[in-house]
Amino acid sequence: MRYTDWFEIVDPAFKSLILPNVHVDLLYTGGRWLEGPVYVPAARHLLFSDIPNNRVMRYDDVAGTVAAFEAPSNFANGHTLDREGRVISCEHLTRSVTRREHDGSQTVLADRFNGRRLNSPNDVIADSKGNVWFTDPTYGISTPYEGSLADSEVGYRNVYRLNCNGQLDAVVTDLQQPNGLALSRNEQTLFVVDSGVQPARLMAYKLDPEANLQAGRLFSECSHGMYDGLRVDSAGHIWTSAGDGVHCLDHDGRLIGKILIPETVSNVCFGGLGRNRLYVTATRCLYAVYLNVTGL
Ligand code: MG
Repeated sequence: MRYTDWFEIVDPAFKSLILPNVHVDLLYTGGRWLEGPVYVPAARHLLFSDIPNNRVMRYDDVAGTVAAFEAPSNFANGHTLDREGRVISCEHLTRSVTRREHDGSQTVLADRFNGRRLNSPNDVIADSKGNVWFTDPTYGISTPYEGSLADSEVGYRNVYRLNCNGQLDAVVTDLQQPNGLALSRNEQTLFVVDSGVQPARLMAYKLDPEANLQAGRLFSECSHGMYDGLRVDSAGHIWTSAGDGVHCLDHDGRLIGKILIPETVSNVCFGGLGRNRLYVTATRCLYAVYLNVTGL
């Protein structure tokens, strides 16, 4: 396979984001449905979820090996790092967002809204002010395959923001299945995938100076398969999962190029010591590719 076969250039602007003679590396196969990658620079490893197998896996970036990190994992899905480098997890089974402390213990950050259990937190990000944002669709309670069959207690599928004082606010309440999310470079726009509509949509919400969200606008519709998870690079491009690989969108939501992956992609994240390697969870496999741009 020639390296150019891995990339589809839709707009010439995409050419400057990729490297010549770079291949997409297959790092692992053997999962059932992989999601939720997070790169931990201090440990030089990538954690990612194998949700139906109820385990979190660990890719050792130095040794190049993969082994189970945590099993069972409470059907963990999305992960992120907070400002202190602690890993935050979304757990389908416990219907909670948890944080792994430096001593190894776990703290529950959120498991209820207005006294009712959350559905099944899916994806999570932390901003520079210490707020934790997460989505709460029903994928982890609609089938025992990815969690446990249960009714929604909240009755909605919201996006939440947990502030430093522990206050939990529903900030987006009108999506069918809020899924992946990300903040823009200046943290003034929140991007949220709605994977409960056809085609899947990426919505954008402006934050006003008091950090209140304005009405959402359609930023991009998925042209192949489904959007799930996404990340923003340091130049402001959006790298999002899709059915045929990773789609790269510009500031206006225009598709400028693709990384073609032979399986359905769920999530992506930047990592490596240079933050210039994009890790891609795709169905059974973990892939990675060096890019000519760094993650936020
Ligand atoms: Mg997801």
